[in-house]
Amino acid sequence: KEFGEISLKDIDQVARSSFPLCMRHLFDSLREDHHLKHGGRMQLGLFLKGVGLKLDDALAFWKAEFSQKVGAERFDKEYAYGIRHNFGKEGKRTDYTPFSCQKIILSTPGVGDHHGCPYRHFSEENLRAALGKMGVGSRELEQVVEKAKGRHYQLACTLTFEAIHGASCDSGINHPNQYFKASQNILKE
Ligand code: SF4
Repeated sequence: KEFGEISLKDIDQVARSSFPLCMRHLFDSLREDHHLKHGGRMQLGLFLKGVGLKLDDALAFWKAEFSQKVGAERFDKEYAYGIRHNFGKEGKRTDYTPFSCQKIILSTPGVGDHHGCPYRHFSEENLRAALGKMGVGSRELEQVVEKAKGRHYQLACTLTFEAIHGASCDSGINHPNQYFKASQNILKE
């Protein structure tokens, strides 16, 4: 297996250790609800492509969840296209790039949506709960919440990264896939 390629059997473990909060939230919501609305499918789908999930694995991954909600047939008819589309296999065949933090922070999730940046779009209560679940200690948690309140979302994410990994991230976080790579680099040391 090449570096930078993840396989389906590792995905839950990798999500827990190396996904930034925005992707962790989408991943957990998908596992729980067996569904994500369009904005979430785009944000998580392109991120997963960026971390090296191959098209066949991506289809299997989404199908396993969506089938439990809408059935395999409806998945094939209504949702598989969008996944192939993300990989540039349909429509204009554009190979879409994963979203940057800036783009995600500026998105406007509505009711029932799980995409967006939790440091910006979560209520303080939900943010605190999510950070606790990620394993951020109470002192660091206060600092993260402070940064988020001051609208320094990427800084809040950087502090979360540092708290979880016990290592500094001098460049700061500006892309979910950069977060992932930096995390994997530390964990593989
Ligand atoms: Fe995701 Fe970027 Fe927000 Fe972190 S700062 S949660 S990587 S969008």
